[in-house]
Amino acid sequence: MAGQSGLLGLTAHELAKKIEAGELSAREAAEAANARVEEVDTQVNAFVTPTPELALERAGRFDAGNGERKLWEGVPLVVKDVLSTRGVRTTCGSKILENFEPLYDASALVNFGEEPIMVGKSNMDEFAMGSSTENSAYGPTRNPWDLGRVPGGSSGGSAAAVAAGEGWWALGTDTGGSVRQPAALCGIVGLKPTYGRVSRYGLIAFGSSLDVIGPMTRDVRDSALLLQAIAGHDPRDSTSANVEVPDYLSELDGGVEGLRVGVVTELMDERIDAGVREVTRRVAEGLQSAGAEVGEVNLPHAYYALEAYYIIAPAEVSSNLARFDGVRYGLRVPAEGVHEMYRRTREEGFGAEAKRRIMLGTYALSSGYYDAYYAQAQKVRTKIIEDFRAAYARYDVLISPTAPSVAFELGAKTGDPLAMYLQDICAVPASLAGVPAISIPGGLSEGLPVGVQLMSDHFTEPMLLRAARTAEQVAGFEFAMKP
Ligand code: GLN
Repeated sequence: MAGQSGLLGLTAHELAKKIEAGELSAREAAEAANARVEEVDTQVNAFVTPTPELALERAGRFDAGNGERKLWEGVPLVVKDVLSTRGVRTTCGSKILENFEPLYDASALVNFGEEPIMVGKSNMDEFAMGSSTENSAYGPTRNPWDLGRVPGGSSGGSAAAVAAGEGWWALGTDTGGSVRQPAALCGIVGLKPTYGRVSRYGLIAFGSSLDVIGPMTRDVRDSALLLQAIAGHDPRDSTSANVEVPDYLSELDGGVEGLRVGVVTELMDERIDAGVREVTRRVAEGLQSAGAEVGEVNLPHAYYALEAYYIIAPAEVSSNLARFDGVRYGLRVPAEGVHEMYRRTREEGFGAEAKRRIMLGTYALSSGYYDAYYAQAQKVRTKIIEDFRAAYARYDVLISPTAPSVAFELGAKTGDPLAMYLQDICAVPASLAGVPAISIPGGLSEGLPVGVQLMSDHFTEPMLLRAARTAEQVAGFEFAMKP
């Protein structure tokens, strides 16, 4: 076991290098991850569907191959259960897709490699709606730092799996913070790339104008490597950007000398816990000591971002979830007549939060209310995009907390949807603007990890990752496997 925990202690790029050098096999890596899942996942519940055999088979084929595969392909990967995986059930954390097996792999996985060595499909809030992974039909995931607390959400399974060493890295998805906030609460790195940077083909849609797939990793270098693996234009996703994929690793150690960094005033007020603000401020000061020019910046409409997001995202999801009707995918509850069958299927198949969002969204889009809600929210979205544009005229990177608090206790917010939505105040502005944003572990407050968020302009991930790499160094936070 000592050897395995040694292996589990590596970052993904270290593991990739060792596999490339022939010092370790992919099979040994897969065995170590499987053993760790076996050891801790009854407590953590990071996985809806672990795939130990599939991991071993694919790792075996990787090892037997001709070595012409990409550097990262030997490193086992955790995949959020919202990404379609051929022949492996994909539930989206919902009962309605309990037995749904996709016919193809999501493009992000196809880009990663011919046959990703997958540890399993990770737990999530139903259809990615939530900030705690308590809205899963498969039970909540627990935070490896404190099993009485939530891991954040909706990619809580992916975050917890990485924090618990049940894998070296994971894919999550971020519509309004779902990669960044759980990364923050679990003490790992979470990157939401620019909207359109990674294909959404095979990602089961929540908010189509917001959804982005992103890396969840132990350090910034691993995020750069995993983004390299999944990014790219895809003709099968009309919103995927036809922009060349740069080398995300080349600039990484370039430092922040002369970089202009703005601390976002609106995201540093009393809504944010004092301990979280303190850690954010320390990281900003660290960047200044490392040569950055640090100042204050305003995103005046950030105050309205949450309201706009909670109109736009439910509107889009109410339309996207219409396809789950008992006819084409997953669950069907038989009944007299097709309408009764739809009704019963959706009644039994969806959980409370999914139903709440469907109702909110349908209302916001309904005739007579469209202008008052949806059109208004779109105008606010434009204002927020303009705020970012103005901010980037003066600053290269913006900095704020990722979430307003550290991980909270299981059950603390389940009775109060608004309190849960408030978890997203720092994350949703970048989502609405479509700009890239990364959360790095900045330190501890109350003995629990605090995430610090860095944001930059569209398609400037190389610079963002370089700033994040320096931020991670000045923060001096060391990844340590929990529990
Ligand atoms: N917590 C937010 C929500 O519930 C964001 C979710 C996400 O990014 N998928 O909508």
